Amino acid sequence: MPNDTAANDGPVLVWFRKDLRLDDNHALSAAVATGRAVIPLYIREPDAAGTGPLGAAQAWWLHHSLQALEASLVALGSRLLLASGQAKDILSKIVIDTGAGAVFWNRRYDPKGTAIDEPLMSGLRNDGVLVRSFAGQLLHEPSRLKTGTGGPYRVYTPFWRALESTGEPDAPIDAPETVPAPDRWPQSELLKDWQLLPVKPDWAKTFSEVWTPGEASALQRLSDFAEDGLSGYKHNRDRPGVDGTSLLSPHLALGEISPARIWHATRGRSDAPAEDVTTFRKEVVWRDFSYHLLFHNPTLPTENLNRKYDDFPWTFDAAAFGRWTKGMTGYPIVDAGMRQLWRHGYMHNRVRMIAASFLIKDLLIDWRRGEAWFAETLVDADPASNAASWQWVAGSGADASPFFRVFNPILQGEKFDPEGGYIRRFVPELARMPEKYIHRPFEAPSAVLKAANVALGSDYPAPIVNHAMARDRALAAYNTIKDAA
Ligand code: FAD
Repeated sequence: MPNDTAANDGPVLVWFRKDLRLDDNHALSAAVATGRAVIPLYIREPDAAGTGPLGAAQAWWLHHSLQALEASLVALGSRLLLASGQAKDILSKIVIDTGAGAVFWNRRYDPKGTAIDEPLMSGLRNDGVLVRSFAGQLLHEPSRLKTGTGGPYRVYTPFWRALESTGEPDAPIDAPETVPAPDRWPQSELLKDWQLLPVKPDWAKTFSEVWTPGEASALQRLSDFAEDGLSGYKHNRDRPGVDGTSLLSPHLALGEISPARIWHATRGRSDAPAEDVTTFRKEVVWRDFSYHLLFHNPTLPTENLNRKYDDFPWTFDAAAFGRWTKGMTGYPIVDAGMRQLWRHGYMHNRVRMIAASFLIKDLLIDWRRGEAWFAETLVDADPASNAASWQWVAGSGADASPFFRVFNPILQGEKFDPEGGYIRRFVPELARMPEKYIHRPFEAPSAVLKAANVALGSDYPAPIVNHAMARDRALAAYNTIKDAA
C-alpha cells in the first residue's frame, strides 16, 4: 500500500503530460488541495520516450499549448517549469533542488508512457517521495472494462454497451482558483529554445486559419459545438463540405480538454435529438476503444493485430507515395483530403477513410507508411486512434472493415460531397468544374475542361492508377492471404 502522506512539507510537483489544462485536472486539483506549494512542470522527454517524439505538426501545437498553459497558471499566481531529458533524472533532480515531498500526475496509457511511469513511480516511492497518479485522459480506465470471459474487448459494439451500462463517467471538476507558488522557483528552460515551431519555410502558417491551441479555445469549441453543431451531427458528420463535427480532436490529443467534460456537455440537452447525442458520444468512445486496444496490444502501431496480414504482398512505389502525400493522385476527394492535411494539419474523418483506403488498396502500400505520415502531419496525431484507425481501414485491425470492401474514391466523393464544395476549397484548380464532373474530371469532355480552365495532366493530374484495375489487383493480393489461419 503506498503511503498517502508526503515525506515532508515541501512543494508538490505536478507533472503535466498529455493533460495541458487546468479544468478537470485531478492531479493539479489534488495537489492544490494538499495546501502546500505546487510546482507545475512539463518535461520534454527524448525521442522514443513518453510524450516524445511528437510529429512536426503536433510540435507546432505543443508550443502554443504550453504558452497558453503557462499564461493560465500565471493568472492563478503560478508558473510552468520547463525541463528536457529523461523524466526519471529530471524529477529526481527537482525533488532534491526544491525539497518536494510529492509528485502527482495524470495517468497515460500508451506503451512508451507506461513503460516509463511504472518504474519511475516505484523508484520515487523508494526514495520516500509520495507519488499519486489520477485518471482523466479517458472516460474509463482501459483495464476496467472486461468481456464476459474476463479478457479485453476486440469488437466495438459490446465495448460501447459495456461502457454505457457502467453509467455516466464521473462529472468533471472545475479548475482551481489559485495555485500556491513555492518560495523559490527552480531554473526553467525557455520554450523558444525548444524550437518546436517550423521556420524557413513556415509550413504551419496556414494552421491558424482554423486552430487556436490552448484550453480556452478547446472549451469555447465545445460550447459552440454543443450549441450549434450537436443537433444534426449524425447526418452532418459525414459531410466534409460542411462544418459538421466538433474539431475537438487536437485539443483532446494534448489533453487541453477532458473527455469527461465533453461527455457531460452533451447531457440533458433537450435541444439536440437523442440520436445526434448518441452518435457523437459513440465517436468519443471510439477514442476510448482505441486506447483499450492499444493498452492491451502495445504493438498496435507497428504490427498487424490480425497476424495473417504479416504475409500480405505490399508493394512500395516511392513516386506514387509521394503523389499521395502531396495530394496529386488525380482523384479529387483523395487530393482534397491530403491537401487539407497539409494546409490545416487535419483531415475530415470520412476523407481520412477514403485517403487511407486509396493508399492501402489502390496503391497497395503498407498501412504503416500511411500511419507514419499521418503521425507526422496531423495536429491531432494520437498513438491509439491513428494506429487503430489505419488497421481498421487495412482490415488487419480489431472489428475492422473487411479488406474486400474497397472504397471507390469517385463514388465516395459524389455521395459525401455532392456539390463538390470540399474539392473546390482544397483543390482550387478544379473550382470551376461543374458538379457532374468535379469528382471525375478525367471523364469530362474536352469542352467542359476548357470551360473550367483545366488542362488535365498540367493544371491537375490524370489519375495515377485506374481504380477498377487497382481494385482487382488489391483483391487478388488479398486472396493470397485470405485463407490463412
Ligand atoms: P468529431 O466527429 O467531433 O468526434 C468527436 C471526438 O471523437 C473526436 O475529437 C475524437 O476524439 C473522437 N473520434 C471521432 N472519430 C473517431 C475515430 N474513428 N477513432 C477514434 N476517435 C474518434 N483521430 C485522432 O484523434 N487522432 C488520430 O491520429 C487519428 N487518425 C486517424 C487515422 C485514420 C486513417 C482515420 C480513418 C481516422 C483517424 N482518427 C484519428 C479518427 C477521426 O478521423 C478523428 O478523431 C476526427 O476526424 C476528429 O475530428 P473531430 O474532433 O471534429 O471529430
